[in-house]
Amino acid sequence: MTETIFSKIIRREVPADIVYEDDHCLAFRDINPQAPSHILIIPKDTLQSIQEAKEEHTLLLGHLVMVAKKVAEKEKLAKSGFRLIINTGADGGQTVDHLHIHVLGGRKLQWPPG
Ligand code: AMP
Repeated sequence: MTETIFSKIIRREVPADIVYEDDHCLAFRDINPQAPSHILIIPKDTLQSIQEAKEEHTLLLGHLVMVAKKVAEKEKLAKSGFRLIINTGADGGQTVDHLHIHVLGGRKLQWPPG
C-alpha cells in the first residue's frame, strides 16, 4: 500500500484531532466535516480499502465497527442516530487509499446520497 496522509497521522507527523485510539485503530475528526460530528476510524495496519480485505481482516473490521459505535456514543449520537460510511474505489468516492469508516451525525442526513 502506498503511503497516505493517514499513515502520517498515525505516526503523529501530521496533526489531527484524535478522539479515540487503541492498539488497532485511531479515530480523528475529519478536516472537512460534512455534519456537526464527522469522525474517521482507521486501522493502524495497512489496508487500502474494503476491496483489499481478506478473511484474516474479519476481526479487525468488526473491531472498527464497534469502535465507530463507541465514538458515536461519545459524540452523543446514540439517540438521534448516525451513519457509518466506507467509500470504496473511484465510483465509491474514496479519495484516501487507507481504509476508513466515516461516522456522521448531529443533523438529519439525506438519503439516497448524491
Ligand atoms: P474518502 O473521500 O471517503 O476517501 O474520505 C477521505 C476523508 O479524509 C475526507 O472526508 C477528507 O476530508 C478527510 N481528510 C483528508 N485529509 C485529512 C486530514 N489531514 N485530517 C483529517 N481528515 C482528512
